[in-house]
Amino acid sequence: MAHIIVLGGGFGGLAAAHELRRELPEEHRVTLLAAEDWFFVGFAKLWDLVGIRPLGQGAGQLAALEDYGIRFVKARITAIDPESRRVETSAGSFDADFLVVALGAVDALGKVERLDGAAHDLYDPDALPAMRGDLASLDSGHLVIPVLGGPYKCPPAPYEAAFLLDDHLRQRGVREHVEVVVTTPLPTTLPAAGQEVSNMVARALAERGIELRTQHVVEAIDCETHTVSFAGRATLDYTLALAVPQAAPPPVVAESPLAGEGGWIWPDRVTARTSFEGVYAAGDCTAVEALPKAGVFAEATGRVAARNIVAELTGADPACYDGSGYCFLEFPERRASALEGNFFTEPTPEVHLAEPDAETYARKEAFEAERLHEWLGV
Ligand SMILES: Cc1cc2nc3c(=O)[nH]c(=O)nc-3n(C[C@H](O)[C@H](O)[C@H](O)COP(=O)(O)OP(=O)(O)OC[C@H]3O[C@@H](n4cnc5c(N)ncnc54)[C@H](O)[C@@H]3O)c2cc1C
Repeated sequence: MAHIIVLGGGFGGLAAAHELRRELPEEHRVTLLAAEDWFFVGFAKLWDLVGIRPLGQGAGQLAALEDYGIRFVKARITAIDPESRRVETSAGSFDADFLVVALGAVDALGKVERLDGAAHDLYDPDALPAMRGDLASLDSGHLVIPVLGGPYKCPPAPYEAAFLLDDHLRQRGVREHVEVVVTTPLPTTLPAAGQEVSNMVARALAERGIELRTQHVVEAIDCETHTVSFAGRATLDYTLALAVPQAAPPPVVAESPLAGEGGWIWPDRVTARTSFEGVYAAGDCTAVEALPKAGVFAEATGRVAARNIVAELTGADPACYDGSGYCFLEFPERRASALEGNFFTEPTPEVHLAEPDAETYARKEAFEAERLHEWLGV
């Protein structure tokens, strides 16, 4: 009998735990450890921000995992020893025969010391009430969406936020008095997806009068003077700044022997195996060349990790990840497009962005509903 412990209850962890439970005989135990006892899909934050739907409506409780035969322990993981596969947590020590590390990424502010007043972390769910309040009183001035650094979660999200906020301001009848600007340190909107896709996104922004500034590396945000400073001395005043944080490895990962360059885990990109026996890693806590930090990829790699553990335990066929996947890009008026293809093709990913339509928006809604239902019975 083996005990498999999944670290993290996000996309990667939930996909892995369910796959293990589905595929393994009952005698094997599956435990999932996570600091938070709830799960929601990242894009629901933007829906909450612009009043489409409150965040809580799209959340599921991890306690529901027990109904599927997966033990859930709410605990903060403080140390991981991949050699012995022992995990220290706020709820004591846990020993495993196999580990799946799917601890996600933390949001970091890069060179920015702090955000307060009218400058917020766009990805922070706790900041949503304050952001909504500031947005409601934004009648004129500058709305700035600066990407603080790369990598960051969900590469299309800053543009998606710009489209939704543009639409929100139009509905309030104040858009002509508010300039909307997105800045990125990258040379194009979505370099990982290639020039053609980047151009499409840039055109869609321009059509809506949203200013795009590429190659703008944020050096500082002065919350007193309401100024964003960029390398090279350019500055931008803001009335409201909604900053996209840089993704950083969780400290417990960066401080563990699993950490490689940059503090990330660098598993084999096809099998999700790490260099430690019986230890697999999936999702945003890993660095896999060309793979964006997005739920779809966390889920796919979590499932591959699980199937390879099943293969080790039962002799079933092992699994390989081929690099295919998609990210949604939402436009106003309930339309979305999917950035879809294979991110492992050489020399560049083969990824396409279709025109936005209502069908893809329905697919995005179903994406959330299916995962909440399948994983947490919502
Ligand atoms: C605004 C926005 C929009 C997005 N839109 C999309 C989209 O349309 N499509 C898409 O695919 N992705 C999207 N994403 C990205 C997506 O949310 C992430 O890439 C995804 O959640 C990564 O999954 P993960 O399992 O690697 O990590 P996470 O989902 O972040 O899960 C990490 C888990 O680890 C736990 N954890 C971390 N540290 C500890 C610790 N020390 N102790 C215990 N537990 C810990 C956390 O509690 C959590 O359960 C979006 C993100 C944002 C912010």
